[in-house]
Amino acid sequence: MEIIRAKTAGFCMGVSLALQKLDKAIADARGRRICTLGPIIHNPQVLADYEALGVHCVDSPDGLHAGDLVVIRAHGITRDVEEALRACGAEVLDATCPRVKKAQLSIRNATAQGATLLLFGEADHPEVRGLLSYACGPAHVFGNREELAALAPDPAGVYVLASQTTQDRGEFEHLEAALRERLPQLVVLSTICDATRERQQEALAIAHTVDAMVVVGGRQSGNTRRLASLSAQCGKETFHIEQAGELRAEDFAGRRRVGLTAGASTPRKLIDATEAWLKALA
Ligand code: SF4
Repeated sequence: MEIIRAKTAGFCMGVSLALQKLDKAIADARGRRICTLGPIIHNPQVLADYEALGVHCVDSPDGLHAGDLVVIRAHGITRDVEEALRACGAEVLDATCPRVKKAQLSIRNATAQGATLLLFGEADHPEVRGLLSYACGPAHVFGNREELAALAPDPAGVYVLASQTTQDRGEFEHLEAALRERLPQLVVLSTICDATRERQQEALAIAHTVDAMVVVGGRQSGNTRRLASLSAQCGKETFHIEQAGELRAEDFAGRRRVGLTAGASTPRKLIDATEAWLKALA
């Protein structure tokens, strides 16, 4: 059995940097309590490893004490929450992904004179809540063309169009073109990160050439779930697992080629272990 492993499988730049910062915080702890505000990434095996190292996951700044060292997650937080973090006496280590931070600051600067923000994204996603909090004027979030049309922007108004970093670039460009025709004073910010799209494109390209796909990553990880559903949508039997131990040899009997990919929050050791498990069947 041939195993085709995606080159893009595993950590994106923002996740790698956030975990490096958490590792450094642990190394520099000097007796302080190390905390993250919410799970640092959506991978239960990684979270269990950090918990075993003494890292505490708190839900809000209320769970922190003066002297704690708290790490801000890769997809960022709202300005209010960051102020509360800094006010509670904890030392704050900002592990917001540089691309998310750039998007936050671009929104702040572009709306500084009161322009209205139109943000393409998922309203209930923490990154989107963070981005909205950086708008200095009115802000609206929309998830599709219908929701944008319902906002009925005023052609005489000044607007800033931006996107959640993980949205689809093609759809964003379509929305931009439609808005430019109606809004002469539109400012467009380039805030999309291609890490998600590259993973999806490679997973699809592999899925088309194999008998079955294995997708490794947390069940709570949205980008991992999207990889698995894209693979299943192209008609390939898809196994979404968190660890190799969940696979069953009988599911691979008679397969000639199997694809392997993983979400942006899946550590290499779990992907390597899955590849080794599949190779042992070959
Ligand atoms: Fe940063 Fe892109 Fe990874 Fe999001 S997907 S954390 S924006 S590198």
